[in-house]
Amino acid sequence: MNNALPCQIKVADDINASYEVAIAENPANRGASTPGRRRKRAAVKHTHFWAPGRTLRIAFLSGDQVFKDATKAAANNWLPHINLKFDFVDGEEGDIRIIVAPGTYWSTVGTDALLHEEGPTMGLSPDMRMPAFFAANVMHEFGHVLGAQHEHQHPEMTIPWNRRKLYEAFGADEHADEDHYMRTMLDERYLKRLDANEVRHSAYDPKSIMHYAIHEEWTDDGFKIDLNLVLSEKDKAFMAEAYPYPDVQSEPI
Ligand SMILES: [Zn+2]
Repeated sequence: MNNALPCQIKVADDINASYEVAIAENPANRGASTPGRRRKRAAVKHTHFWAPGRTLRIAFLSGDQVFKDATKAAANNWLPHINLKFDFVDGEEGDIRIIVAPGTYWSTVGTDALLHEEGPTMGLSPDMRMPAFFAANVMHEFGHVLGAQHEHQHPEMTIPWNRRKLYEAFGADEHADEDHYMRTMLDERYLKRLDANEVRHSAYDPKSIMHYAIHEEWTDDGFKIDLNLVLSEKDKAFMAEAYPYPDVQSEPI
């Protein structure tokens, strides 16, 4: 049996450029996730959050009106929780540029969208036969837009993976040379844990919209995660913390 590959994060080709644009946009991206802990930085690891208060201009490079309307409606579910605005613009110039990508979902993460001025930064499969799934995928991809990584790659993730079964589910043998590419891809997308410096610190959240669905057959003890269809409370709290409102409004008495 072969499963469809899930969402792919489009990683920046140039990690130093990724770092530079992230820090220029929001200096807090330099600091890492674990306050108070001193560490030596071996590689450039950073977060990708936008400057709070900013307006993100979002353009569609393709897609019909139904697709655009459904995308906007789902993406806007994030807005009540963050100090950012989405401006869905006509034409093809935007900070975020969405293209119709049948059968796949992918996105750059946060400020990495600034690395290129043209071309898509997000691909969305236009399949809307199941509106709740389409909306969930859009919210997931916009989570990447806001700077979130994949929750199942959380540094403290506790999924009891069965590597052999995961490979088999995608048609790959655990040892065969010809399956090396698929194993590498599955390792990258499912099994690899993120460095704690790449993520804002919060507890692992199996209910996160940023979590892949995990089939029971891929784990050892019946562990599974059904596709999460709505933003979790921790998703909302996480983004509210990343995009705070200024703390200046004094309470009128
Ligand atoms: Zn994703």
